[in-house]
Amino acid sequence: MTKTFNIAVFDGDGIGPEIMQPTVELLRSMAAKSGSYDFAFDNVPAGAAHYAKHGESLPSPSLAAARASDAILLSAMGLPSVRYPDGTEISPQIEIRKELKLYAGVRPVRIVPGQPTPLALSGGQPVDFVLIRESTEGLFHSQGTHDVRDDKEAYETLKITRDTSEKLFKFAFNLAQSRKDAGRGSGRVTCVDKANVFAAFAFFRKMFDEEAATHPEIAADYAYVDATALWMVEKPWIFDVMVTENMFGDILSDLGAGLMGGLGLAPSADIGDDHAVFQPCHGSAPDIAGQSIANPFAMILSAAMMLDWLGATHSNPEMAADGVRLREAVEAAIADRDGVTRDLGGTASTTEAAAAIAARLT
Ligand code: NAD
Repeated sequence: MTKTFNIAVFDGDGIGPEIMQPTVELLRSMAAKSGSYDFAFDNVPAGAAHYAKHGESLPSPSLAAARASDAILLSAMGLPSVRYPDGTEISPQIEIRKELKLYAGVRPVRIVPGQPTPLALSGGQPVDFVLIRESTEGLFHSQGTHDVRDDKEAYETLKITRDTSEKLFKFAFNLAQSRKDAGRGSGRVTCVDKANVFAAFAFFRKMFDEEAATHPEIAADYAYVDATALWMVEKPWIFDVMVTENMFGDILSDLGAGLMGGLGLAPSADIGDDHAVFQPCHGSAPDIAGQSIANPFAMILSAAMMLDWLGATHSNPEMAADGVRLREAVEAAIADRDGVTRDLGGTASTTEAAAAIAARLT
């Protein structure tokens, strides 16, 4: 029997609509060929352009549609030219993470043969790890409080809670177990922190240890965030699953994207107990918007993660297999330099890149 999944679609700003449209088309055609799933896509407005026009960045009907959906596809939001009166940018994607309690920001980093990477990978070791960024608290907790005093001092507060950390670590260890079961990764979780300096991170690490004790089959270790940045460049193949606080994860996930050859190849998922958002790591790239040269692969890889997640949470093996098929189609296209856009040294347009993936799925 075919199950229809309701997907809330945020086209977003800048290149957002250009990369979303072909991604939705790919998902439509995969669903049409499947016997077990279909999609009902619901386009909902939010973002900087919407704010500039209507004075609202995340309209409540859009948030309600996201809450009611089975999964959320989001391209990118924000425009440097559109700001709140306090000078900060419009970022509904962060509000959605907080509103829907999407505590686990999943940022896979994979380098497959043929993929352009700034690293000289001695011996050609495969790089395949997942960075999990806590996405609802940490240093982002005080976002919006604007605590600047007399133009002399500014304060932000870092928040770590037991409730969120326990869920986060459980998620990380379960992911390491499922990767190990699938023959990917060594079965190891690394807690990335700054426990040598901050009590909040010593507390973070204590809760990590408590969860680790319940997973004797998965190895657990720690790394300070500064050393982690070094090792991600020097020897990224040593990592399997890494778990960290929001701000550290924000920074390290862009480093991970850089290792993969650029933001145009970096997908992500923000997952909670009941909801999940799938979006590329990159922003709205206003410098190339409207030219049809944006790389759609990070968006398409994020859609593949959505198929994985829906397949796993709804016990639909066909969907999960289609997620793998879609990811492998992108990886094969990169390896063959087929449909490769300008950011990766190719000449393909956004539509030609997406067409190259569609051709590999027939
Ligand atoms: P950006 O990721 O938009 O762009 C950085 C550089 O990477 C640019 O040169 C851009 O052209 C290039 N790039 C990004 N995605 C690309 C793609 N798919 N194909 C080819 N090239 C690509 O970062 P930025 O310039 O710092 O931010 C632009 C806007 O996006 C800002 O308003 C920022 O706040 C917002 N932003 C949103 C998100 C999000 O929605 N999750 C994330 C980061 C930034």
